[in-house]
Amino acid sequence: MQISMTKCPICNGIKELSSVTFTVDLGTNLIVVRNTPAMVCSSCGEEWINDETSESLEQVVLEAKAKNRMIEVVDFVLENVA
Ligand SMILES: [Zn+2]
Repeated sequence: MQISMTKCPICNGIKELSSVTFTVDLGTNLIVVRNTPAMVCSSCGEEWINDETSESLEQVVLEAKAKNRMIEVVDFVLENVA
């Protein structure tokens, strides 16, 4: 399935590159990742994160989880930048 890079599939609005705050609720811990790069629809606010970003996000979440704090707030850091 081909997904348009610029049009929102929900409302047909325009997607724009932005940064979002990504929240992961693990039940025992809440991890908040700020400054996560994402495409955001300028009309309905829907967010999309690309594969590269979601892989890095997974690492960030794992590291934050290892700290075992109830609430961990981190800034998104893109690893393996080419
Ligand atoms: Zn939209």
